Amino acid sequence: MNARPAKQVDAANIVGHFINGEEVHDDNRPTPITNPATGQVTRHVAMASQETVAEAIAAAEAAFPAWRDTPPAKRAGIMFRFKQLLEEHAEEIAAAITDEHGKVLDDAMGEFGRGVEIVDYACGIPELLKGEHSRNVGPAIDSWSEFQPLGVVAGITPFNFPSMVPMWMYPMAIACGNTFILKPSEKDPSAPMIAARLLKEAGLPDGVFNLVNGDKEAVDTLLNDERVQAISFVGSTPVAEYIYNTGTKNGKRIQALGGAKNHAVVMPDADIDNAVNALMGAAFGSCGERCMAISVAVCVGDEVANAVVRKLQAQIAELKVGTGTDITNQMGPLVTKAHYEKVRGYVDLGVEEGADLVADGRNLVVEGHEDGFFLGPCLFDNVTSAMRIYQEEIFGPVLCVVRAESEEQAMQLINDHEFGNGTCIFTRDGEAARYFADNIKVGMVGINVPLPVPVSYHSFGGWKRSLFGDLFAYGPDSVRFYTRRKTITQRWPSGGVREKAQFSFPGRQ
Ligand code: NAD
Repeated sequence: MNARPAKQVDAANIVGHFINGEEVHDDNRPTPITNPATGQVTRHVAMASQETVAEAIAAAEAAFPAWRDTPPAKRAGIMFRFKQLLEEHAEEIAAAITDEHGKVLDDAMGEFGRGVEIVDYACGIPELLKGEHSRNVGPAIDSWSEFQPLGVVAGITPFNFPSMVPMWMYPMAIACGNTFILKPSEKDPSAPMIAARLLKEAGLPDGVFNLVNGDKEAVDTLLNDERVQAISFVGSTPVAEYIYNTGTKNGKRIQALGGAKNHAVVMPDADIDNAVNALMGAAFGSCGERCMAISVAVCVGDEVANAVVRKLQAQIAELKVGTGTDITNQMGPLVTKAHYEKVRGYVDLGVEEGADLVADGRNLVVEGHEDGFFLGPCLFDNVTSAMRIYQEEIFGPVLCVVRAESEEQAMQLINDHEFGNGTCIFTRDGEAARYFADNIKVGMVGINVPLPVPVSYHSFGGWKRSLFGDLFAYGPDSVRFYTRRKTITQRWPSGGVREKAQFSFPGRQ
């Protein structure tokens, strides 16, 4: 490790940066990382200065020409090797996620696996980059479109999927022939750092993938440097909007995925037990810290609502909350003390706003882990669209039940909401499901599927204020996002025949 001395903390226990194939750290504001299950500081993360980010950009720029000209099949070969190495290090990566994020180990393994699927998809890059060819568009004239890499591109990612969300970006960006700078979340940076080491081990040339840890200073440096051609962002809506506005003003291509408030509609004909099981996992899995978490259950009719609430209460009473490392637990702690306080504040607010708190997780104590950031599952009934707990993203284990009179009324609520990331409907009625899928203003729709996260060969994204930009993440859209189309028209004059000058616009000949 080529370490520059850290001012306040043990240099061996600091997560630094990965620039030009080397792990480095500067002495700029080392920031504590806490294990959310114990509340204890376990290590520090370096916060990149403008100079450090500029160094990473310079390394990526220098590596671009050779990488761009590396045959796609060779790039795919490195991705194959990277995938193998990831799988060999799966447990180490899952442990790092649980240690810093808090989610239970099998959930950490789940997000890791979904990320690896995208590396798998990137292995098919020679096929994905094939262009479009037309012969004889005019006499002896051929034309084709090809997809060229952009150059230096960057990714900025949130805390809630420290392994998977970066993998939404860099495998496809790199496979397309770009060089990449990742700025992961400062709350849980270790899993992406392990991946950085494995990319090098897989044979990726130095400078093709770089990682800088940091905060707004690092992000703003990426946004304002003209060498950065495009930025993929995933995080909260206010930051997504800021990234989109600043980046596009600076002439960059931007996709910025933001926050969510995902509704599940439970129809009167639904299999209620199945719907309740699905709601439990979708609302409380990963402590509700998923952008696809269900945070609102819209029950059509009081009879359905009463049954859903009753069954949810029974299951909530049985839900095992505790450390992520104990594999018998189903839900771990929230990521930080500040986030715990924010989420708990929303529960207090819901009570003040007049919603019925029918399961209250605020007094949960996990024995032996009294300093951990544990909040038990919370369930509100009789929530209305006028309440802030309905309107705002809480990002914790809080499920709101809203009562509606019809499918149309349920859909109106969803369509009127500012977010449009994911949604689902529980029903046995194919016609109702089809109507829902056709008319709902949301980017990802599940029919009896609570978390309709697209697989790697489809693309992921929301509508409305859940996504700023035109293209979704990974899948086919990522080839378009990380490349620029070029259309070439070619003719080879034969027989020494000279063309006369033509002053009219070329037409069909
Ligand atoms: P966040 O917006 O606080 O941070 C995301 C990234 O932006 C981090 O790398 C952070 O360092 C950086 N950042 C934070 N504030 C910044 C600022 N003022 N200027 C520049 N950069 C800044 O998000 P988070 O709390 O880490 O993650 C949770 C959020 O992410 C939730 O809103 C969740 O819905 C969203 N999310 C969305 C998706 C999606 O696909 N739509 C997926 C995962 C998470």
